Amino acid sequence: MLVVVALGGNAFSRPGEPVSQEGHMRNVATAAQVVARIVKEGHRAVVTHGNGPQVGYFAELQKGREAFGLDALNAVTQGLLGYLIAQAIDKLLGAGMTAALVTRVEVDCRDPSAATPTKPIGPLYPEEAARELEARFGWRFAADPRGGWRRVVPSPTPVKVVEVDAIRRLVDAGFVVVAAGGGGVPICGGAGVEGVVDKDLTSSLLAVELGADLFMVLTDVDGIYLNYRRPGQRRLGVVAADELERYMSEGHFPPGSMGPKVRAVVDFVKRTGKRAAVGALEEGYEVFKGLRGTQVVP
Ligand code: ADP
Ligand code: MG
Repeated sequence: MLVVVALGGNAFSRPGEPVSQEGHMRNVATAAQVVARIVKEGHRAVVTHGNGPQVGYFAELQKGREAFGLDALNAVTQGLLGYLIAQAIDKLLGAGMTAALVTRVEVDCRDPSAATPTKPIGPLYPEEAARELEARFGWRFAADPRGGWRRVVPSPTPVKVVEVDAIRRLVDAGFVVVAAGGGGVPICGGAGVEGVVDKDLTSSLLAVELGADLFMVLTDVDGIYLNYRRPGQRRLGVVAADELERYMSEGHFPPGSMGPKVRAVVDFVKRTGKRAAVGALEEGYEVFKGLRGTQVVP
């Protein structure tokens, strides 16, 4: 079985906590255990990851000077997280078993939503600090479901993973491949784009393109909830893609967090007729087995 495992950028580094290499290594180690266990059972795995906290961290270091665009910073985070993930998986499977690939993705640049800032990056700010950064650098901010404010940037829709053939060959050759980090570097008309693609949407696209048997999204919440943090909150166990799509149209899943995950798993299940799942990083193996998280079926 070929499994595409999408790891949440926020599960590596909680937006409320200071960014640190040790913190990343701890969370990456948890993810590596999940992947290694699956691979040791004879399955193949492609690992993708988010980069919201990390790309925001590097963008903030530039203090508005913008020496590098978001496309280049995205590649920075792919290298950084690709390195940490490859180290952690190799520790369990053997040196050289994991290959991390800088990945580009063609995006739909005529889509008007490509210019609308919806994708949260960087840390959580108190309202006052967010207002100051908005005034100084022209950054845009939106309220985060965790509380506080985060910078939001345009998030164009991914259309095709540029390196898909290279990824397929590496997988066929027996490597665990880390790819499409941070949703891939967005490319439009051959040039990099100032935005951050949602990693869930790119991961779903990649899973379809690779003919994956299972697409799983591991994050910092243990499944997809209806009425999240409202009266009548309920976690979905096993749900049909059509039913989940109906909940989506009823507005249960906000843009920039659970919205794209739901879109991504619904797309994968509808296009392939295979299973997808959303669950907590710590329960990753049980999510793979279909025992935990939200299991999305045809
Ligand atoms: P990741 O970095 O893993 O992509 P996100 O922040 O993008 O994480 O998405 C996970 C977050 O989505 C959770 O921490 C939770 O606060 C939020 N969320 C919003 N709506 C829901 C919902 N309906 N069910 C579950 N989580 C939700
Ligand atoms: Mg996300």
